[in-house]
Amino acid sequence: MALSKTALDTDVSVHSTFASRYVRASLPRFRMPENSIPKEAAYQIINDELMLDGNPRLNLASFVTTWMEPECDKLIMASVNKNYVDMDEYPVTTELQNRCVNMIAHLFNAPLGESETAVGVGTVGSSEAIMLAGLAFKRKWQNRRKAEGKPSDQPNIVTGANVQVCWEKFARYFEVELKEVKLREGYYVMDPEKAVEMVDENTICVAAILGSTLNGEFEDVKLLNDLLTEKNKETGWDTPIHVDAASGGFIAPFLYPDLEWDFRLPLVKSINVSGHKYGLVYAGIGWVIWRSKEDLPEELIFHINYLGADQPTFTLNFSKGSSQVIAQYYQLIRFGLRGRDNMLVLREGLELTGRFDIISKDVGVPLVAFSLKNNSTHNEFEVSDMLRRFGWIVPAYTMPPDAQHITVLRVVIREDFSRTLAERLVNDIQKVMHELENLPCKVCARIWISGDGDKEQHGAVVVKKTALETQREITTIWRKFVMEKKKMNGVC
Ligand SMILES: *Cc1c(COP(=O)(O)O)cnc(C)c1O
Repeated sequence: MALSKTALDTDVSVHSTFASRYVRASLPRFRMPENSIPKEAAYQIINDELMLDGNPRLNLASFVTTWMEPECDKLIMASVNKNYVDMDEYPVTTELQNRCVNMIAHLFNAPLGESETAVGVGTVGSSEAIMLAGLAFKRKWQNRRKAEGKPSDQPNIVTGANVQVCWEKFARYFEVELKEVKLREGYYVMDPEKAVEMVDENTICVAAILGSTLNGEFEDVKLLNDLLTEKNKETGWDTPIHVDAASGGFIAPFLYPDLEWDFRLPLVKSINVSGHKYGLVYAGIGWVIWRSKEDLPEELIFHINYLGADQPTFTLNFSKGSSQVIAQYYQLIRFGLRGRDNMLVLREGLELTGRFDIISKDVGVPLVAFSLKNNSTHNEFEVSDMLRRFGWIVPAYTMPPDAQHITVLRVVIREDFSRTLAERLVNDIQKVMHELENLPCKVCARIWISGDGDKEQHGAVVVKKTALETQREITTIWRKFVMEKKKMNGVC
């Protein structure tokens, strides 16, 4: 999105060297040009500007797929002009989305009879999937409260403070209070015991994360299910569980088939997964699956017929491309259940760093989240900055409350992150560390120059701080800086 701010004078036009062979004048940046320009010029201008984007393959910040097989690219291009919502016109695309929903529901052990079909929908991503799942919980809870003659205007949802920003969006957009279980140093996911303590009669669901965005760790959904079952029995409530398996949904069934986190647990009523993360499809696809028809209130489903036959729909948007659905179907049939074992290879990447505290766990989404053992002179943000020079995009961020003094770097291991790249990255990290060791402490220098509350004597700043104090100060400065940025970007 674009947030309004004053444009700098130098910002108002787009100049291009090579496009000058086709157009003489520069283009206004924020207004449409008066006249049309040749297609070659448009291509050249845009292509030249895009050169400055990072290289997606070196973007280790993101879970989202950056490489697909050329055959799949071909299918994507061939369907790029099909609107997914025109179900009557493109019945085969609709059929493929239904097959995907069913395959994923079976993968998540939905209790389906032999001839029973699954309940679920393809979305733009997990965020849309989570809005839909949240709405279903909210409506079910309201219906039950109304039937009992109790107030239904104060719904809340219980999550860990490590939730992805889309849960905060859901809470704010759909007016549900977000009750977050705080983290603590060394424990960066939702504590099921504390979560269940926070549940009350207004709780529409507890959302557990399979693959925390911050360190890839799986939350203990089984323990949550057991504790919540007990509480439900004691109180007579019926609080359900949603699993946000955006990143872990296509990992756990293959790497940890015995881990019970899905519909095998009776209180799990819906699960979302991002097709564009470990579903191995380019950005633009997610899925939400409900345990059964009863878990999706009928009144949320719209039936449209103006495109042809009656079509049930439960989505937030209407039109969207078909390519991602087709690409998801490609990946599901291409790899099959056994082929996906190849993912084991990814785990080797986890062992490649030695000089950091590893914050991610062995069991979880394939990523390495790590902190410097000692960040008193140089911190994780500097490492991230310097890696950028080599082309690597490795984010650094601080943990949510109450572990905000911990800063981590995160490398997501995707399918296209080869062993060669991993070795190269370790090499470059070592180079960066070496360089940093020989650099003066940049941030301390800033603190000293700014004085920051310290007494100044004859132009010299007297600094008497313990290493811990300095470290805290550095973290605070960076945190402020990052939080400003994070409000816009978030990690995805
Ligand atoms: C990425 C992510 C999301 C958001 O998913 P999108 O598909 O990007 O909309 C939500 N929850 C978790 C845990 C995630 O990792």
